[in-house]
Amino acid sequence: MGRINNSVVPSDDEILSKRGYKLDRVLGEGSYSKVKSALWKKPGSNETLQVAIKIINRTTAPQDFIERFWPRERDLMEVLQHDNVIQMFDIFSEANKIYMSLERATHGDLLDYVQLKGRLGEQETHKYFSEMCNGIKYLHGLQIVHRDLKCENMLLTAQNSIKIADFGFARKMSKSEISKTFCGSAAYAAPEVLRGVPYEGTSSDIWSLGVILFIMACALMPFRDTSLSKILKDQKNTPNFPEKHKLNKRYCHLVTNILRYDLKKRFSLQDILHHDWLTTIYNKPRPDPSVSSTDSGIESD
Ligand code: ATP
Repeated sequence: MGRINNSVVPSDDEILSKRGYKLDRVLGEGSYSKVKSALWKKPGSNETLQVAIKIINRTTAPQDFIERFWPRERDLMEVLQHDNVIQMFDIFSEANKIYMSLERATHGDLLDYVQLKGRLGEQETHKYFSEMCNGIKYLHGLQIVHRDLKCENMLLTAQNSIKIADFGFARKMSKSEISKTFCGSAAYAAPEVLRGVPYEGTSSDIWSLGVILFIMACALMPFRDTSLSKILKDQKNTPNFPEKHKLNKRYCHLVTNILRYDLKKRFSLQDILHHDWLTTIYNKPRPDPSVSSTDSGIESD
């Protein structure tokens, strides 16, 4: 219990325990939120769920965020229900704070995983990428563009599945609608987003998926310079695949066609889903090359 201007403010623990939550540790921090893990005993049920509670303080977050971005995130999360998208269970506001109870991904994010493990094997890259594509297909089918796809927003579950998280920049956009807002991280942002020209959201999400696909198999950023002008220059060229990894040519073909500077030439989600790298081993599990003692990455054809 805290005290501000002589009024008693209940703590997060007190507010949440009334609703059946038992707060645990901090999982992470966003720009305007803190995310904590908790166990939630659903009212009227014996089920106990592992959840992540996103806590937003109305008094410290910028007005723009509270009035525009956060309500959009809330409205989108309320309808989302897909195996590869983090689900929202509950949302409420008390004592100047907003509490979002989310399905918890217990195995961290993809960036930490790649940093810990090094580049991923072909089967693992393929599995995660397929799951991301399934999640994005669902979102784009609802005309929702995420606009901040990056490894940090790809969470991993105990069942080793991908869950797309963080809908802070996401919005509903019809096919013909264009946006000019710069969203997301420069290293994952499509050229049209970085250049500040009007863009159509689904193809910029596709670009970010290409960056993630490159990172998974190479453990490198495809455009890794710190200066914006250098990133913009490099984005005009085919990404540099590290030769020593002898990457599968069909994998390189897919990445190259996703990371097309020219929007007219950039693969669509349909092109990706029908690409042979994705379809040929889609239903045919192969031994994971990462168990080989010589090389943990994608092999050449
Ligand atoms: P940013 O300002 O970076 O966009 P944010 O305020 O939108 O962040 P999130 O990215 O949603 O906040 O969450 C911050 C961190 O909390 C994440 O990087 C992740 O580590 C953790 N986190 C968020 N949601 C979950 C979840 N559902 N399960 C497990 N961990 C989570």
